[in-house]
Amino acid sequence: MSDIIYTYKNNVYFNITNRCTCRCIFCIRNEKDTLGDAEELWHNHEPSLQEIKHAIDQFDFTGYQEAIFCGYGEPTCAYVNLIETAKYMKQKYPHIHLRINTNGLGELYNKRPIIDEMAEYIDAVSISLNAPNAERYQEVTQPSFENAFHEMLNFAKKAKETFSSVQFSVVSIINEQEITESQQLADKMGIPLKVRIYS
Ligand code: SF4
Repeated sequence: MSDIIYTYKNNVYFNITNRCTCRCIFCIRNEKDTLGDAEELWHNHEPSLQEIKHAIDQFDFTGYQEAIFCGYGEPTCAYVNLIETAKYMKQKYPHIHLRINTNGLGELYNKRPIIDEMAEYIDAVSISLNAPNAERYQEVTQPSFENAFHEMLNFAKKAKETFSSVQFSVVSIINEQEITESQQLADKMGIPLKVRIYS
């Protein structure tokens, strides 16, 4: 069985699905099959909720203040398990801060609003902005949807109104001018931007 929970740089991560609606040119999945203390992050089947709960029951969360839905895939592609896992964590470990790293296309994929429900159980959201405009976004993330950039920005706008903590991220695979323009866009939307160094 591959790792549903793994640690990396003193953080805990949930790897609940390998499905994703993007094919980002910088995705670590293109380079490695594992990360941190995980032995294998490619699942041979989509983890069931029972398997995810079992992984939580087996994991020692002592000393961890935050757990992050991220993994080798887009967490909102396993939306029901995402919400049920967050609920289970809040029942079992109410002191642990829950964050989701998302491509912001979860409402497009699930064909329904999900932000309000997510915000009930998840404390913070980090959204992959990835590019300052639609044309570059298509090149960098290669999404399954044509209007993905616009919809991702809508998702971020709604998330800002709903979550107490929202952040954008870009990866330094885009050039400095594009990072500056991304910062300007993030500033205009009132959302902090994190620049992740591509390595
Ligand atoms: S959204 Fe995340 S998991 Fe999906 S391709 Fe991009 S970096 Fe990889």
